[in-house]
Amino acid sequence: SMASPALLMRVVASAYSVAEKAATIVRNVMSAGDLGIVEKAGPNDLQTKADRLVQMSICASLARKFPKVTIIGEEELPTDDVTEDLIEDGHCEEILKKPCPAQYTGIKEEELVIWVDPLDGTKEYTEGLLDHVTVLIGIAYGGKAIAGVINQPYYNYEAGANAVLGRTIWGVLGKGAFGFQLTEAPAGKHIVVTTRSHSSALVNECITALNPDAVIRVGGAGNKIIQLIEGKASAYVFASPGCKKWDTCAPEAILHAVGGKITDIRGNPFQYNKEVKHMNSAGVLATLRNYDYYASRIPNTVKESLVP
Ligand code: AMP
Ligand code: MG
Ligand code: MG
Repeated sequence: SMASPALLMRVVASAYSVAEKAATIVRNVMSAGDLGIVEKAGPNDLQTKADRLVQMSICASLARKFPKVTIIGEEELPTDDVTEDLIEDGHCEEILKKPCPAQYTGIKEEELVIWVDPLDGTKEYTEGLLDHVTVLIGIAYGGKAIAGVINQPYYNYEAGANAVLGRTIWGVLGKGAFGFQLTEAPAGKHIVVTTRSHSSALVNECITALNPDAVIRVGGAGNKIIQLIEGKASAYVFASPGCKKWDTCAPEAILHAVGGKITDIRGNPFQYNKEVKHMNSAGVLATLRNYDYYASRIPNTVKESLVP
């Protein structure tokens, strides 16, 4: 008989189903109409009922199945008293059937760190820009993002009432990424994607220095990585602190699984061990292709303004 699937593939298979339940919660809170908005650091740092319920759902569901894994979620919430209706115990059978990359077959629960952004793009969610929203579950081992799930709850929402809403993208380093059509950005065009709700003089100075053909301003770190892997943009450039480890872990794993690259603005890789500082203080630079083109054009003055 077949050996039981490796832990990593079981975690990814569960994270897939947990992210699908999360997407249902995100849609249900919006349709019910009471977002329960709370300001965290300020008016551009919001939390809704969906952020809260989804965080409890994801963290409690994964903790129940994988009790020794470290799970770090964005929202500060009690983890006890999670009601049973928030628990998802299913998994994606198709993922479970895939072999685990050899270098990850021996991973133990206590060696994994899961970074959870229950709802990425909350500001946009509250403004009705629903396709900007993603649910991010990133899986790290040895300080590296090695697997991730991105659910986009409102994918296809402009296609009409009969369209199937939402999709789940997943990836593992050494296996690839699935649930979307990998597409390169138009050759020879420099299309930069950046923040729409967290701009600053430095963010704009950095983009101007790259002299892009076009700039796309959309919400969400997950959404911006989707723009890269679907060929809508050639570089994600964010010369500002503000993005956290739960914003970049799942996107990083998926981008790296298809041969892309993400670092801070100074070119340093991100670390995802459980002790790491949450803030990506030196910003974000990510591409599917031609990373060096963009990295070499970031002004030194911008790099020096951002301290990791
Ligand atoms: P954005 O590209 O503005 O959607 O940001 C990507 C992620 O980083 C989102 O989760 C934001 O909430 C977070 N983020 C970026 N800048 C800030 C900031 N200045 N304050 C709070 N969160 C931020
Ligand atoms: Mg986020
Ligand atoms: Mg969030």
